[in-house]
Amino acid sequence: MGFEKHIGKYRLGRTIGEGTFSKVKLAVNGDNGEKVAIKVIDKHMVMENNLKNQVKREISTMKLLHHPNIVRIFEVIGTKTKIYIVMEYVSGGQVLDKMSYEKKLNEHVARKLFQQLIDAMDYCHNKGVYHRDLKPENLLLDSKGNLKVSDFGLSALQKPNDVLNTRCGSPCYVAPELILSKGYDGASADVWSCGVILFELLAGFLPFDDHNLMNLYEKRITIPDIIEDEWFQTDYEPACVSECVKNIKLDDCNVAFDSVEEKIRESKIPKSSSFINAFQLIAMAQDLDLSGLFEEEQDLKKQKTRFGSKHTINETTEKIEAAATDMRLSVEKINNFKIKLHPKQMMNRCSRSYFDLSAQLIEVAPTHCVVEISRSAGDLRTYTKFCESLSSLLEQKSGLTSSQEQEESKDVADSTHL
Ligand code: ADP
Ligand code: MG
Repeated sequence: MGFEKHIGKYRLGRTIGEGTFSKVKLAVNGDNGEKVAIKVIDKHMVMENNLKNQVKREISTMKLLHHPNIVRIFEVIGTKTKIYIVMEYVSGGQVLDKMSYEKKLNEHVARKLFQQLIDAMDYCHNKGVYHRDLKPENLLLDSKGNLKVSDFGLSALQKPNDVLNTRCGSPCYVAPELILSKGYDGASADVWSCGVILFELLAGFLPFDDHNLMNLYEKRITIPDIIEDEWFQTDYEPACVSECVKNIKLDDCNVAFDSVEEKIRESKIPKSSSFINAFQLIAMAQDLDLSGLFEEEQDLKKQKTRFGSKHTINETTEKIEAAATDMRLSVEKINNFKIKLHPKQMMNRCSRSYFDLSAQLIEVAPTHCVVEISRSAGDLRTYTKFCESLSSLLEQKSGLTSSQEQEESKDVADSTHL
């Protein structure tokens, strides 16, 4: 195949991979004849999605990583319309492909790949870098079968309405704390994904899998399902249980608990788990950062934003619903204090534009509550827009939502409207 186009000293060749925002092309370094892979990113896409700083940060992070099991970045070249990331060329394809040919790997090979993956992650985590999108599609193999982690940190680049063409998107590999919107620790989230990958390498199928994203997120086997399972049924002899329960006396048990019940009755702590007083709130301070109580606190790393609301729980809920309606999100009330927001159309879980936002309400006083919006999956723009919209609905007084900046954020919101 002929190499026609030049970027710097590199002659661009055929496309060897396609990503969300990018194409990856094979190229040759004209100085030494060595092959490189060049990821070509469309600048407009990045700008349109307000991802400039993110891409910059991610590239500089990747440049820091020098590890035999991590794809090296050599240099970055920018033109008017494109960004070219020049990388080490990894010739053996994706681990994903290897698995589709071989179904499952032998234990020896799987262990070696897992060791290399863990080595690479240990190195990254020590540098404060988290991948957040580990999956067999992002693990490449060199000509000797060594693993190379790729797509580092660019996992945040998500294109709206893009449907992944692989058999499974990231949700299968994502740690439950990301799904539960609890905020997460990058290191343990990566470790979870490594565990899922190891399982898949050895077993040839995913530990958590379902066609329906909601089922996947809710996935918990029941005891009848376990008992029905073929593997379980092998040599299974159910224990014999005597059904004679008539003679059981619970007097001693009741007596033992009487004094405790009285004490609880005496104390005036409201039983509602949602209503807490200031002291209880302070006692919870480990979980709840008080600095964010009455002003917007945006922690982009954790993808959580807290607002103070000077409204009742019901009024605040209505405002959340209004903000959701504005953005054409559907509202799922889990209970009076937890609301989930989903895209209106049921999206394929492979879709990178899938997202999942949730709002948690904590009543501090009858007309004061704390709202915590968190993003467990998907599009950062939807999350940011939603937070902006809710913030203005709640009439926050914090710096971010002063009237002038509100106007600015409206402008941004308009310009990124889908
Ligand atoms: P995205 O961030 O858009 O998902 P990736 O970095 O995952 O993009 O690249 C898309 C695909 O291109 C990969 O899955 C892989 O098949 C191929 N690819 C990426 N980097 C390289 C590389 N350094 N050498 C060879 N192939 C690569
Ligand atoms: Mg990728």
